[in-house]
Amino acid sequence: MKKIYDLDLPTMPENGVPSNTVIAIDGPAGSGKSTLAKQLADTFKLLYVDTGAMYRALTWAAIQNKVDFSNEDALAQLLAQSDLTLDSGVKSIVVRWDSKDISSEIRSSDIEANVSEVASHAIVRKEMVAIQRNISRSTGVVMEGRDIGSVVFPLADVKIYLDASVETRAIRRHKQLSKNDSSCTVQNVQADIIRRDKLDTERKESPLTISPDAMIFDNSNLSISEQLKEITSIVLFVIERSLPKLPEKQLPIATQTLKYKFAVGGMNTLLRFMGGK
Ligand code: C5P
Repeated sequence: MKKIYDLDLPTMPENGVPSNTVIAIDGPAGSGKSTLAKQLADTFKLLYVDTGAMYRALTWAAIQNKVDFSNEDALAQLLAQSDLTLDSGVKSIVVRWDSKDISSEIRSSDIEANVSEVASHAIVRKEMVAIQRNISRSTGVVMEGRDIGSVVFPLADVKIYLDASVETRAIRRHKQLSKNDSSCTVQNVQADIIRRDKLDTERKESPLTISPDAMIFDNSNLSISEQLKEITSIVLFVIERSLPKLPEKQLPIATQTLKYKFAVGGMNTLLRFMGGK
């Protein structure tokens, strides 16, 4: 990942960001969105929401109820009549459809093969977006998906677009999938990722896209902890800049010190210039 800022950050309030902060994370399959989103949610005490799990859950329900993946009205009706819940823990999330825990089923290759078709329908997306926006009414969120910065929260406080080379993404995904399916190969996983990326970026409704105001990170050559450190700094920087300005007297000490350092630095430069050194 390219280092964008080298920051001497002011100290932030205890949790770092206001409790209604919305952080949007988008990116293609296997780019590490879930890992990053969980870590940021944990760091800033916000709710983690995996919207891919919601589309996966609907795909699972369509299979159970023998609903055709191309039948958008039937899919939307299925979603409207169901009780879909996500319980986000620090380590994992539990996805329930009408109280049944389907957390591991929705990660199967069968779901992986069909979810992009289910997610391509306008009516389905409209209902999903309504649920996703509703979640943020009562709490700040770190939400990950394909259309979070572009459609769900166009006014998110921070937008991150996460990416990595397709080879890196395939190796990561293979590591996860092979735990449950020993027959899957890196080549198969890579082919599926390329197919899904194509469907997700080329679909008519809310395609995967980079919002013009998103920060783009390629984490192909970055460890998980390096990535978290870099992105945490940037989130704090962006949030701090967007907070209403406090009168100088009330600024946290570290911020005053920073300003003082700049002032002294400026004075020294001026003096050197005047003294001709
Ligand atoms: O992120 P994940 O791989 O679990 O997403 C599964 C699929 O759900 C994606 O390939 C995409 O088709 C769909 N999706 C979407 N919009 C989102 C999240 C996921 O279309 N916000």
